[in-house]
Amino acid sequence: MVQLLEMKNITKKFGDVTALNAISISLARGEILSLCGENGSGKSTLMKVLCGIYPVGDYEGDIYFAGEKLLAKNIRETEAKGISIIHQELTLVKNMTVLENMFLGNEITQVGLTNDNEMYLRCKTLLEQVQLDIDPNTKVAELGLGQQQLVEIAKALNKQVRLLILDEPTASLTEKETAILLELVKDLKAHNIACIYISHKLNEVKAISDQICVIRDGEHIGTRSATSMSEDDIITMMVGREITSLYPHE
Ligand code: ADP
Ligand code: MG
Repeated sequence: MVQLLEMKNITKKFGDVTALNAISISLARGEILSLCGENGSGKSTLMKVLCGIYPVGDYEGDIYFAGEKLLAKNIRETEAKGISIIHQELTLVKNMTVLENMFLGNEITQVGLTNDNEMYLRCKTLLEQVQLDIDPNTKVAELGLGQQQLVEIAKALNKQVRLLILDEPTASLTEKETAILLELVKDLKAHNIACIYISHKLNEVKAISDQICVIRDGEHIGTRSATSMSEDDIITMMVGREITSLYPHE
């Protein structure tokens, strides 16, 4: 199968610290891969390498996206190729409106919109796609965190995303907001958009993933189909021992 993404032998160091040691992952179009690992295991670093926050030359290994070698020098270059990352810390400008945020940093001519009304309507359509029933002229500061997360995703959709990276997206969401987000990820998959999903909530991970990749201390421990792994299997791989041994008296 031709993969959408292949990251091969990615090694990333911070001074003397090896945060990632020869990690390889791959992903097909429309596939959902979850990255699991304890805090500090290297999940976010791997995604920062992928999306150009750490530019080519700042890591070892090779990345191929949609059949081409990815040699991104910054996040703009990966966005232009269809890779979008949404961090746990949201990056919308709070005292600007949803509409202003939606097109921030985009050349208007690039998306083919020539006037304010077209932008307004485009924004409304994007918000509908993420099931947000809000006025595009609402200030971001007036939205809840879950709504802001969905605006971030709508913004990614506006950039013709082919691979969406969600780094702990549900950490501060309510149960209802989480359910909407998970449905949205499944809907994107149905439209052949791939997703790399990072979450500590293993029930979520099990529910939406095709594959689950476990990282521990910067090492790739294993990647398996989600159906073949229980939550206990994932935890055992994450911590490197049977979880029962954490409770020696039981
Ligand atoms: P995770 O997302 O799995 O919690 P990270 O990728 O954030 O883990 O971190 C992996 C390791 O790299 C940790 O040991 C962390 O301290 C280190 N690290 C991450 N970012 C930096 C940085 N900018 N400078 C130095 N060390 C870093
Ligand atoms: Mg992280």
